[in-house]
Amino acid sequence: MAEAASGDDPERTVPPATDVVIVGGGHNGLVAAAYLARFGVKVALLERLDRLGGAAVSERPFPGVDANLSRYSYLVSLMPYAVVRDLELDLELRSRPVASYTPVIRDGKHDGLLVERRPGPRTADSFRRLAGSDREWRSWQEFYTRIERAARVIAPTLLEPLAPKGELMKSVREACGSGFWEQFMERPLGEVIEETFADDDVRGVVLTDALIGTQSHAHDPSLRQNRCFLYHVIGNGTGEWRVPIGGMGEVTGSLIRAADKAGAVLVTGATVTQVETDGRRASVTYTVGGVERRVDARYVLVNAAPKVLSELMGRAPQQQPEGNQLKINMVLARLPRLRSGMDAETAFAGTFHIDESYSALRTAYTTAEGGALPDPLPSEVYCHTLTDRTILGADAASAGLHTLTLFGLHTPARLYDKPETRDEAVRLALSGLNRYLEEPIEECLALDANGEPCLEARSPLDIERELAMPGGHIFHGDLDWPWAASDQEVGRWGAETDVPNVLLCGSGARRGGAVSGVPGRAAALAILLRRQRRRRN
Ligand SMILES: Cc1cc2nc3c(=O)[nH]c(=O)nc-3n(C[C@H](O)[C@H](O)[C@H](O)COP(=O)(O)OP(=O)(O)OC[C@H]3O[C@@H](n4cnc5c(N)ncnc54)[C@H](O)[C@@H]3O)c2cc1C
Repeated sequence: MAEAASGDDPERTVPPATDVVIVGGGHNGLVAAAYLARFGVKVALLERLDRLGGAAVSERPFPGVDANLSRYSYLVSLMPYAVVRDLELDLELRSRPVASYTPVIRDGKHDGLLVERRPGPRTADSFRRLAGSDREWRSWQEFYTRIERAARVIAPTLLEPLAPKGELMKSVREACGSGFWEQFMERPLGEVIEETFADDDVRGVVLTDALIGTQSHAHDPSLRQNRCFLYHVIGNGTGEWRVPIGGMGEVTGSLIRAADKAGAVLVTGATVTQVETDGRRASVTYTVGGVERRVDARYVLVNAAPKVLSELMGRAPQQQPEGNQLKINMVLARLPRLRSGMDAETAFAGTFHIDESYSALRTAYTTAEGGALPDPLPSEVYCHTLTDRTILGADAASAGLHTLTLFGLHTPARLYDKPETRDEAVRLALSGLNRYLEEPIEECLALDANGEPCLEARSPLDIERELAMPGGHIFHGDLDWPWAASDQEVGRWGAETDVPNVLLCGSGARRGGAVSGVPGRAAALAILLRRQRRRRN
């Protein structure tokens, strides 16, 4: 849809001048639009695609199969309750009964590590069987109890202006005891993992949270793995990853309704090509339906990646971020049986880790850095329909279909320079999964209306092409620590750029990354507070 995407209101086209222009209509752009419009700010949001939501969408990719898949992102942890409440989002996030299942082969025998959401005797038994004693399970409980204490301190700060590092350090130390800060924020994560756990598979399950969309390893001195880990374990003070009922498209749908109701102008099919500003007023050039247009504004909020912003402002090219994930979406006619004997309904209800032991992750990283696809290719799989069947149409539901999504690690964009690499990555990922199944996953795939198996794959290059995420990096670039990096940053929102009236409102802002709405809200609040201050003076 081009122009006037805001409901059917013909008055809601982009005016020649407005208060705020938002470049990009990902979920964060929508959060910013909704907050600003609710406070009476005039907002025009311009999205290049013919739909809103960026990477937070649901789609039906397989002809004749009524399964509305969360095509890119699929689980929510970091969206604060405050955003849902403030914007009155009609959104349900449901807990999964299982946190994770990790199939393993020990002495030629198939087994697995089960971690229930509310761990009971089954979880304790599986740790005992795998590790040979209760020590590993006790270590796990202590480790995550300390992390949850830190999460309860850090998560609320995502809603506040940036705190000085020292302030957060003090609060975290008070909550978690001395040593925690150094272990998680200052030393490579691998050290605390190795000090705490002995089992290679247990260590690997812990480490995976540090490697999602992040090309790194346990002992990376840059600590980018620590930052990625932190964001994966602090969401809403628990770190729990929940299922959006109706799929990820419902997160975006609820935000569109909120922004639209508040009066924001939301335009799709509108590609921004230039942002000019003298720091006080800005002019944004965009094309819609092949026609070039301009809109003037006091502020520009950029939901697109920082690298895109730099191009729009005609600045020297920034370093290209690099995504490293492989995403496979599948619809299954039936869930596969597992060689370990664990029932599929339990195993796939949480995150199903494949070849993600600590040592396998290190080998995979090294292989990828050496220029080859890792084999085995570490990945994780999860089945949305075991928690929420509303994404299936009536026929698909009664036929017993299931959706399965696979997220592969350590396949950096640079490896996909040859067209056949994606097929090879898919082959490796599926054969990894098949090692733990009684029947190959290919035999469980549903067929679409053309008789083709329901499977699609996306490399980082596909993600870049479809979503304009540079390098296919799912967070628009490596994640930053969630506190002020300098004295100047204290009290700011992590959305500001070096130009006073241009702010980042997406994943590339400090405290961006993931489906959270945090940077969208931060950018909106930065502007609202400035307006309030101006009015007072
Ligand atoms: C495969 C995959 C799986 C993921 N899984 C998860 C997950 O399960 N949970 C989770 O929390 N996170 C996940 N993520 C990360 C998460 O989806 C993103 O970090 C988040 O969606 C980013 O949201 P955003 O609104 O900041 O940016 P985006 O979603 O990237 O939206 C930016 C928007 O700007 C538009 N745009 C860009 N340039 C222009 C221009 N010049 N003019 C106009 N519009 C423009 C784009 O088209 C896009 O719609 C995943 C990401 C991917 C790709």
